[in-house]
Amino acid sequence: MTSRRAEISVVLLLLAILGAGVMVFLMGRQLSVAADAASASMSHVQILFLGAELLLVAAFSICLLSVLPTIRAQSREHGKLHSLTDDLRRRTSEMELAALTDGLTGLNNRRYFDEALAQYLEEFTRIGRPVGLLVLDLDHFKGINDTHGHDAGDEVLRAVARCLMEHARHHDFVARLGGEEFAVIVPNMGHEALAMFAERLRLAVERLALDVGNVRLRITMSVGLAVAEGAGSADPATLVKRADVNLYNAKQAGRNRISA
Ligand code: GH3
Ligand code: MG
Ligand code: MG
Repeated sequence: MTSRRAEISVVLLLLAILGAGVMVFLMGRQLSVAADAASASMSHVQILFLGAELLLVAAFSICLLSVLPTIRAQSREHGKLHSLTDDLRRRTSEMELAALTDGLTGLNNRRYFDEALAQYLEEFTRIGRPVGLLVLDLDHFKGINDTHGHDAGDEVLRAVARCLMEHARHHDFVARLGGEEFAVIVPNMGHEALAMFAERLRLAVERLALDVGNVRLRITMSVGLAVAEGAGSADPATLVKRADVNLYNAKQAGRNRISA
């Protein structure tokens, strides 16, 4: 509809200019016919210019009046499109973030973890630095749900997530892999230091006290540890498998411990 109005405006503009031109031409011709009239008080050329000026001003005004509303409508439409695009962009980045975030805890989710682990391994092993992986699983978590309800279980998951985030360094990558299983990617840390870091995490979770109703909940976790050292030392799937085997060993050995 707007482009149609623009077309009409352009046609009006052309008509107005054409009209002005024709009128000036006619006036010039009439004046040249009466060129010898002795009664003229103003020179013919002056009258011609005055007429032409008046007509051009009229043509310009008509053009302006017809084009202005179109320009205003177009700029309004442009503004609307602009804010719509901004809105879509914002929503897309929110959706992208949501696709990588675990809804319950706000941690990175499994999908993001898979991407991050592959990237960390590639970047750090290429420069000869180690990449550590901890897989952490809460002990007897089903019992918390069964005894205190699913909401209490969710509270525990959120508290553990906060605790892990508080203890992680800036460049560590903390994720919830699903259920009551978490993972931390720890770049640039050797086996021994990683075991000490895992022990700090285990202790911090053990010390968590969660008041749900009038009960104080306690939770422990078991940790499986694996480190990739040197170029090509591990692909993501193998590293996760090694950490998983160690987690299984920690559970078998009695839980609330680290297996490396
Ligand atoms: P283990 O020490 O061997 O790890 O025992 P567990 O009870 O922790 O492990 P199991 O795999 O038997 O149970 C995990 C439970 O976690 C069962 C499931 O209902 C619960 N769960 C999984 N996701 C959620 C969740 O998002 N919220 C809550 N509240 N519970 C969850
Ligand atoms: Mg468990
Ligand atoms: Mg589990």
